[in-house]
Amino acid sequence: MKRVSILGILIAAGSVSIAVSAAQQPAPQPSADNITVEKVKDNLFVLRGGGGNTAVFVQAKGVTIVDTKNPGWGQPLLDKIKSVTDKPIRMIINTHTHGDHVSGNVEFPATVEVVTQENTAKNMEAMRTPTGITPAAGAPANIFKENGGRGMPKRTFKDNLTLGKGNDRIELHYFGRGHTNGDAFVVFPALRVMHAGDIFSGKNLPLLDANNGGSGVEIGKTLARAATVKDVDQIITGHSTVMTVADLREYAAFNDEFAATVQAAKKAGKTPDEVAGTWKIPAKYTGYGDPQAARLRANVQVVWDETK
Ligand SMILES: [Zn+2]
Repeated sequence: MKRVSILGILIAAGSVSIAVSAAQQPAPQPSADNITVEKVKDNLFVLRGGGGNTAVFVQAKGVTIVDTKNPGWGQPLLDKIKSVTDKPIRMIINTHTHGDHVSGNVEFPATVEVVTQENTAKNMEAMRTPTGITPAAGAPANIFKENGGRGMPKRTFKDNLTLGKGNDRIELHYFGRGHTNGDAFVVFPALRVMHAGDIFSGKNLPLLDANNGGSGVEIGKTLARAATVKDVDQIITGHSTVMTVADLREYAAFNDEFAATVQAAKKAGKTPDEVAGTWKIPAKYTGYGDPQAARLRANVQVVWDETK
C-alpha cells in the first residue's frame, strides 16, 4: 500500500522522475490488465493504475467518468470500463490539470464532453510542469496541443455546477486554492460519495503546485470547506484508498498545522532548510507515510514564499 502511494506521488503530472522505490519497480505498461476495479456502489467504480484514480459513474443513459490517467492510458481505460458497463461514455470531468489525471482525454471519442473548473481549463491550455516535478525524457510537453486540442474542456464552472437530475445528479464544487488553483470536488449525492482528486491524494504531504496556482497557506481552509459538503460519506482520493469525511477533516487540520508551523518558523528567523530538516509528521496523524525529503523541502518553500 505504501509503495503504491509513493509511486502515485512520483507519477503526479504524468512525468515520472525515476527515483528510490520506483527504480526497483518500473511503472506498468498501459494495458487494461494493469487497471483494477473497485466497486464502491452498484453504479460507481474506482479504476486504479496508470495515474490518478478514475471514478466511473453509470447513469441511466450513459456514463460520466472522473479523470483519465497518464498518456497512453485512455484506450486501456475505455477497455476496462467495458467490463463494468456497455453504456456509452458521455462526459469526462477532470479534477485538475495534472498529466496523470487528464492525458487519457485525447484517446476518448471527440463527442465526449469535458468539464473542468475554469482555472483548470486555462491550466490545461498551458500544461505547465508542476512545482517540484522533473519532466521525464520524452514526456509530451502539451498533450492537447499535440492532439489538435482534442480532449480540452468545452464547459467550465467557477464555484458550483449541477449536472443532471435525480439519481444521476452530479454536483461540482470549487472551494479555493490548494493542490492547484482549479481543484474540483465531484459529488454524487444519491450515492453519498465525493471524488476529491489530488487535493486529497491520500494521507501524505500534498504536492503544492505553485506553478499551477496551488497554495500551501490556503489548502487546509479549502479542504475544511469541502468537508462541510452535505450528502457525503465516502471520499475517493486522488491516488489512495476510499476514505471518510473524518479523514478529510483530519487532512485539512494536518495541512493547516503544517502551514502554521512553517509560518511560525519564518517569523522566528529560521531558514527553510532548518524547517525541512527538523519537521516530522505530528504523532497524532496516524497512517501518514514518511515524507519524501524533496517534497517536504518544496512544500516548506511554497508556504515560505506565500508568507510576508
Ligand atoms: Zn495532481
